[in-house]
Amino acid sequence: MKMADGVTMLRRNRPGTKAADFCRWPDQPFEEMESTLVVQQYIQQQICHDPMNVTQILTPPESQDEGVWKYEHLRQFCLELNGLAVRLQAECHPEACTQMTATEQWIFLCAAHKTPKECPAIDYTRHTLDGAACLLNSNKYFPSRVSIKDSSVAKLGSVCRRVYRIFSHAYFHHRAIFDEFENTTYLCRRFTSFVIKVGCADFTLNSSCFRPDRAIHGGSEMIPVKDNEDESCFLVTKHSPWRGKYKRIFSIGTAGVTTYNPTNMEITNRWPYSDFMGALPGPNANHGQVSLA
Ligand SMILES: [Zn+2]
Ligand SMILES: [Zn+2]
Repeated sequence: MKMADGVTMLRRNRPGTKAADFCRWPDQPFEEMESTLVVQQYIQQQICHDPMNVTQILTPPESQDEGVWKYEHLRQFCLELNGLAVRLQAECHPEACTQMTATEQWIFLCAAHKTPKECPAIDYTRHTLDGAACLLNSNKYFPSRVSIKDSSVAKLGSVCRRVYRIFSHAYFHHRAIFDEFENTTYLCRRFTSFVIKVGCADFTLNSSCFRPDRAIHGGSEMIPVKDNEDESCFLVTKHSPWRGKYKRIFSIGTAGVTTYNPTNMEITNRWPYSDFMGALPGPNANHGQVSLA
């Protein structure tokens, strides 16, 4: 870009740039960005400007293609999440964290192998970030960064789901590292808002799920500790004749229905399908009410 006085402005971190001067160049309006990587440049500019302003960062410029917007944000998450992975290496050793867990309720299998397997948490983290990088840079699915096929955009959800577990593991098992990273990058907050606001196919978090411990986990690489596998989860309000109204996560599983307390993810009830007489629309059915018997 040519400045008014004719000096060419290069937005580059040259070798030898001091940390304090990193990325310190003036903002450029989106309309004036000219490369094929404008969306990435714009997102990075917004982050650099104020990492705390998640709403601003996630707001696309006018008439921005939605698929490209999702894709570029996910690329940026993975890029920055490598910073957390590097920090985790100091503490998350294979002997200590032998499996990828968040709460003790689920063990996540690593999908980077021909048959998904139980990798130690740090390996799961590396393998998942490598797998995400391979997919996001794949010429087959993402040959262009200007327009992306819907069938390729649909692949982003499973990346989100797996990557989110890295936050959960760090939060539950390496809290000091998580906090230190999060307080400077706001990455988990941004990622969570992204999933809620922008949305990614086949991965959803409810708006009450900011903290990783409130995340609703789902997906085929999970081993349920009990004999049931959750298929779909919904945040619901339970109307109890005895206890009044309260929030529950309602899961439809392979063997039955389970409810969880959304604040600590503890199981509050589980009924096998053989115990059901039926499910009918409730008295307030147009507000989504359902009665189970
Ligand atoms: Zn660990
Ligand atoms: Zn693995």
